[in-house]
Order: sequence, then C-alpha cells, then structure tokens
Amino acid sequence: MKKVILFGAAVALMMSSCSPASEKSEEENTDTTVVQDGESNDEFEFYSERFADIKILRYRVPSFEKLTAQQRVYVYYLTKAGLAGRDMIWDQNYRHNLEIRSVLENIVNNFEGPREGEQWEAFMTYTKRVWFSNGIHHHYGMHKILPGFEEAYFDGLLQATGAEISDEALRAIFDPEYDAKKVNLDPDKGLVKGSAVNFYDPGVTEAEVDAYYAALKQATEDKRVSFGLNSKLVKTEDGTLKEEVYHADGMYGPAIQQVIYWLDKAAGVAETEEQAAALRKLIEYYQTGDLKVWDEYNVMWVEATKGDIDYIQGFVEVYNDPKGYKGSYESIVEIKDFDASERMKMLEENVQWFEDNAPLLPEHKKENVVGVTYKVVQVAGEAGDASPSTPIGVNLPNANWIRVEHGSKSVSLGNIVEAYNEAAGGTMLNEFAHDQEEIDRVMQYGNLASKLHTALHEVVGHASGQIEPGVGTPKETLKSYSSTLEEARADLVALYYIYDQKMVDLGLMPNLEVGMAEYDQYILNGLMTQLRRIEPGQQIEESHMRNRQLVAAWVYEKGLAENVIEQVQRDGKTYYNINDYQRLRELFGDLLREIQRIKSQGDYEAGKNLVENYGVKVNQDLHGEVLERSESLNLAPYSGFINPVILPVMEDGEVIDATITYPDDFTEQMLMYSKEYGFLTK
Ligand SMILES: [Zn+2]
Repeated sequence: MKKVILFGAAVALMMSSCSPASEKSEEENTDTTVVQDGESNDEFEFYSERFADIKILRYRVPSFEKLTAQQRVYVYYLTKAGLAGRDMIWDQNYRHNLEIRSVLENIVNNFEGPREGEQWEAFMTYTKRVWFSNGIHHHYGMHKILPGFEEAYFDGLLQATGAEISDEALRAIFDPEYDAKKVNLDPDKGLVKGSAVNFYDPGVTEAEVDAYYAALKQATEDKRVSFGLNSKLVKTEDGTLKEEVYHADGMYGPAIQQVIYWLDKAAGVAETEEQAAALRKLIEYYQTGDLKVWDEYNVMWVEATKGDIDYIQGFVEVYNDPKGYKGSYESIVEIKDFDASERMKMLEENVQWFEDNAPLLPEHKKENVVGVTYKVVQVAGEAGDASPSTPIGVNLPNANWIRVEHGSKSVSLGNIVEAYNEAAGGTMLNEFAHDQEEIDRVMQYGNLASKLHTALHEVVGHASGQIEPGVGTPKETLKSYSSTLEEARADLVALYYIYDQKMVDLGLMPNLEVGMAEYDQYILNGLMTQLRRIEPGQQIEESHMRNRQLVAAWVYEKGLAENVIEQVQRDGKTYYNINDYQRLRELFGDLLREIQRIKSQGDYEAGKNLVENYGVKVNQDLHGEVLERSESLNLAPYSGFINPVILPVMEDGEVIDATITYPDDFTEQMLMYSKEYGFLTK
C-alpha cells in the first residue's frame, strides 16, 4: 500500500504524503534542456527505444559524483546485492518464467540464422516484453503476453539452437487460456486458483490459504509479524500444507547467499554504525527467514536516518499476491538529491516570508510557520520488482505498528521523475501548445518550473495557513472535498510564488520566464491534456485531477472579461493562450484566499460548490477532441528504465572507489544481468 507508481494512461497514488510533480503523467511535461546547479542535460539522452506498449528510458545520477570514494563503494555493494536477487522475482511471478527466459536468451545469444523479417521481429518484441515484465505476464495488466510469432517458427529457432523446453513451459507461451492471469482479483475464478503467480502450489485453494494463516496466527505469540511474507505455500505428499521459506539454506538459497555476500561487504563501508547494524540485521533475516527478525530489521532501518545513502531491499510489497501475504523481491538504492535538498532548504529558511506575503486574510496566516520536510532522492540502481518498471516514490515500512511506533521513510525518486519529464519529447506540447514561443519557453524552463512547483507545493503550500478557533479539522468540516481543496490550496501557493521576483532574488530561478512556463504547463494540463486519462462519458474522480481542473477552470472563467486566458480555435482544434501573466497571478491569489477561507472556516457549502462546479464535470466536446488528438500521437502507455552500471575501482586487490556509466541498450543489459546474476538458473 505504500508505493507510488506512474504510467502514461493513469496514475495510482498510494502514498500518504503527496507530490504533485510526481503525479503528473510523463507526457504532460516536456523535454527541456535546462542548465542548473552545474548540471547539464544537453548531452544526456533520456530516451532509448520503444516496443509494443513500452518505452525504455535512461536516468542519470548526478549525486553519485558528489559522494566520497567510500560512499561510492557503499552504493556499489548495495546495487550488487540488489541485482544478486534478481532471479527471485522471475520465479515468484510465475513458476515457468526462468525456464522460458533461459530459452529465449539462448536464442538471442546463439541463433545464427536470419535475424530479420516479421517473425524474428515479433520474437524479439516478445522477448523484450518478457524482460520488461520479469516474466510472461504483463507487468501492469497482469494478462499473459501473447507472442506475435508462430509456434512453428519458434520450433525452428529451438532446433537451430539445440535448446529444449518443457511441454508446460511451451504451453505457457502459446496457450492463451493456460495460466492466463498473473494476479486475478475476480472472486468467481478463485483468487488463488485463478492467479498464475508462484506463491502457492497449483491446487492450493483460497480456503486452504485462509485456514493455514488463521491457524498460524493463532499459534504465534507475536500477532504483529507479517505472516507468510517470505515463503511459498506448498502441498506435501500427504496433502498437508507447508511453507517453503526463502532463506540462505531454503528456497532461493543460491540467490539469497549472494545477496548476503554483498550486503556484508556493504555493512563494512556503511556511512554510520546505525546503517551497518541494520544491514547486519537484514543479513540475519536472510540467513534465518525469521519474520520477527524482519520486523526488528525494519525498526532499525527506519531509525537509521543519518547519511546520504539509503536503500530498499527484501520481499516488500504484496500487490502480486491476490491474498496479500507474499512479498515480491525488490531493491532500490538511493542517494540524497543534493540540489533538491538545497532548494527545499532555501524555501524552508524563507517560509515565514512566504506566509507573511501570501494573499490570505490576515487572520488565516500563521505567525510561526514551519516548512514541511519533503525528501527527494536519486536512484542509483534498481532490481527485482522495482525494475525495469519503477515506482516514482516509496513510503515504507509496510507494517503499520512500526509506522505508528517508530515512524516511516517517504521519498520521491527525483531523477526518475526527471527522466519521465525529459523523455516525453515535447510530443504532447507540440500538439497542444498555442504557439512556438510557449513551446520554446516550456522546453527551456519547464523542467525547472516543475521542480520548483513541487518544492513550493510541499514545503510552503501544505505548511501555510491556519484554521479559525473552534473550527474542526478539514476532514470533519469539508468531508469528501477536503483533499481536493487541500491540493488546490497547496498548488495555488506554488503558482502564486513561482511568478514572484522573490524566487529570482533567492537564486532559485534565473528569471520570471520560469513562472510563465509553469503557468503555460498548468493551464494546458488543467483545461485540456489531463482529460485524456478520463474514459469517454466519465467525470473526474481523482482528487489531484479535480484540483487541477478546478484551479484552471476558475481562473479561466474569472479572467474572461479581461481576456486573461484566451480560447483559440484554429484548424478545427482548440488552444488556450495566456495573454496576461501578471493578472493571472492575481487570480491565483484570489482563489488561494478563498480556498484558505473555506478551510479556515470549515465552509462546506462553498467548498462543495467550487469542486462540483469547476473540478468534476468534463466538457464532452473538448474531452472528445483531447482523446482524439492524444490518440493520434501514439504515445507509449508504460515506461521503464535501463539502470546505470556501477563498477569498482581496484587497487592492490581492494575496492577503493567506484565509477558510474550509463549504458543505452536494453537488450544488452538484460542479457548481461542474466549472465552475471542468474543464480537460480545456473
Ligand atoms: Zn499536496
């Protein structure tokens, strides 16, 4: 429940804190070449390739260069540990995945016949899709990926390479009905029986799973442990159920021993004693498979807050289990985003100035405002369920009692969000922007504008304002409208200040054109482009989307008489053009004051009217037009990433430093991973 994911068609938000830039779809922003903080994007190519419904991207890790040699070595060991466990996710996803992967890769590596033509192309597309999904089921849709080539052609490839495949694995590839769905949530088909995922022996029923874990919980003293998190439930010969536990000497032992090897190295160069102790506890967990140790580890991990490097490692998220017990293996290695941290710090230091100068009623301003801390990291490497498809934010641990008693860690994966934005290639912008000046400005400043909007929204926006004495909490007074109004309020704080000279004076942006670029992006998204995520005939339900339309539609209407934002019809297409940025800023201020008043006074009726009148209903004609124009752009709904390669620098047999490079060939990386980290297939 704690992972934020992003894909082109829609966005799932499951994080308790919010991050508006992260919620933006990848095509909403554009590629830009902003030079800031000494980082140049000019020479880095974020886009790699496209196949089926997938776009392969790359991300970069500027923070890596700012670390000390020992910190870089620490990152190196942690990424090695992550990759060492890669095979586990393949087997967890489906019991025939590793065999199928071996057969496919053997063909890619060794087939000497013609590597061209429709059938070969279809074979390669299939293979890449399987790599992308860590198995033969679609990573998001959960359905079986159907091969676009003929079985006879595949037979020929097998014979030519001397490879063998079991009847069941062959059937799994070609029979669409057989193990058709990775995770089935339709109770009629049976949650366990209908799911191909490899957490339960075929033949184990949902009722048996329920009974098994009910009994286990009954018999266990500590009811808080995450029962079943690290095991497969199998049926023994006499028909009784038994857990095959993932640990060094149990299921997945060969892979787990390798993970332990690298974690141990990492513990030796950790930044702090707390980090080292947590890593040793994680090793103990992998050695024993004891879930009480897993909880102890999570407490230590969540309390190890010092240092620039952190990581996620283990059987963590349970979305792939229809019953929600089993954790999928994943690893993410994170480095503090030093530039984003600087931005946040600058805003935090000036948060009182922002409060004092806000266009709020005086009685709704805080006398002593404290900025909201918001953490941005850069991913240095991902593996398992987090790769190639990745979350854009993570909030862990999952165990609620640990969150309550010891806290949690919430991070936004800044360089992943940036790569999504950069790689979009301006396609949406070119189609929907009113004029070239606007396109150029967003290309130049859009990325910086998005980052500043996010920082202002989180650090200043959510911290701002106060409720009048005697008025209940927004959840009590504004009920179902509270989250839309809260997001609108934070967005409006960001919009109001991103076109303020103060931001230039603070050195956060070079000029006010950054603010103009943000206004262009925001209005375009709020009035038009986000509509492509709505099904025909539907209204807007998701609160962040409601908030964005509310804000954009309100300022559009209020500025009509003065032509602040102009609707333009050209060649049968609709465009919006901002004529007066300064006046638009004042309108944002007006709406901010009103929404703060609604929150401060708990004015339910006014809040409801705002949301219902501006945020919910969709203009059917415009919606249809947006869908049609987006469709014609043929955008890939899903994206994933090639990881950087981190290599050791050796001296006298010792690892003394590490380097980072950014490969650009997805196929090569996948083949290299299987060769170097195929610990369950060797
Ligand atoms: Zn927010």
